[in-house]
Amino acid sequence: MPNRSRITVVGAGIVGASIAYHAARAGAAVTLIDADRPGAGVTANSFAWIGASGVRKGAAAALRSSAIEEYHRLETELPNLPVTWSGSLTWGLPDAAPEAGPGQEIVDAATVARLEPNVRQPPEWAIWAPGDGAVDPVGVTERLVEGARAHGAEVHSNTPVTAIPRDGTTVVLAAGVATAALAAKLGVHIPVGPSPATLMRFGAPPGLVHTVVNTADFDLRQVAPDRLVAAADSPERTLAAIRSTFRGAENVDLLSTRTAARPMPIDGEPIVGPVAAVPGLYVAVLHSAITLAPAVGRLVARELLTGTAEPLLAGCRPDRFGG
Ligand SMILES: Cc1cc2nc3c(=O)[nH]c(=O)nc-3n(C[C@H](O)[C@H](O)[C@H](O)COP(=O)(O)OP(=O)(O)OC[C@H]3O[C@@H](n4cnc5c(N)ncnc54)[C@H](O)[C@@H]3O)c2cc1C
Repeated sequence: MPNRSRITVVGAGIVGASIAYHAARAGAAVTLIDADRPGAGVTANSFAWIGASGVRKGAAAALRSSAIEEYHRLETELPNLPVTWSGSLTWGLPDAAPEAGPGQEIVDAATVARLEPNVRQPPEWAIWAPGDGAVDPVGVTERLVEGARAHGAEVHSNTPVTAIPRDGTTVVLAAGVATAALAAKLGVHIPVGPSPATLMRFGAPPGLVHTVVNTADFDLRQVAPDRLVAAADSPERTLAAIRSTFRGAENVDLLSTRTAARPMPIDGEPIVGPVAAVPGLYVAVLHSAITLAPAVGRLVARELLTGTAEPLLAGCRPDRFGG
């Protein structure tokens, strides 16, 4: 039988860091290992929107609807967690209808103009999610790692794992896009592949953008008085769209463009749970992991320590793919 209270977590992105923190806090002896620095994987190039509103369906819908509350909980446990609660505004997406989902409301042009005073031509309607937020993803990961350490976890950076330890400890694979290759070493197929997405950083004037703005052109937010980030396809088109959408954006300039590989399960839903074929092996790999990391970390830690399945993870199990 694997030893539930000794846990090795492979990968210190936001997912592994969250699992390590919550497991250490719950009393497990945790070792967290990363090939690089904590948060240096795709987490470092995330747009990092806590985009939890509006979801009604999918295996992770209930999990996702707990995401905001889980961040508020984490903020009380880890003071000064770098989270900004700005709300999000979405407009102009193809085929979108003025319909509000959970946590959302439909607002008119005057409200958009109040929320985003620099928008040149406010849309007739937009979806406003007042409870949404965004994070500094590396900052949150580092705070989780510090929190894990404070609860006795051992953390090994710059330590690539080449063979999965089979020493009776529970091993959690949370290695993002590398998870499939690591699991394959044990003959386990985890159907997750790389999905490239591009993050752009722009120099900008203070107070240009106030919320998380999501349009057909970009996901955009202000991360510092002089800095915007956008998740979008083309730097040139994005720059042109920012300048045409916002007054005072004439001097916005592109600072960097980074394309990173998001871990994308084949059916888009999180893969979180024990691997039946290999006792003691547990997998946690998912898309939208900035949004879901606090919830997933807490639930995985509870499953690992109590041995009791968490209902919110029921739709996420690796065995849904068979084999
Ligand atoms: C442009 C862009 C925008 C995004 N926007 C959002 C968003 O708005 N909201 C949202 O929720 N999500 C968003 N995402 C997705 C989100 O960033 C990812 O889901 C999340 O960062 C994945 O975290 P992770 O911990 O699984 O992976 P990673 O951060 O990649 O962590 C995996 C870690 O495993 C380590 N590792 C790999 N192999 C080994 C090994 N052999 N031994 C030891 N360590 C190893 C790596 O070094 C890495 O640190 C976005 C992604 C991108 C690229």
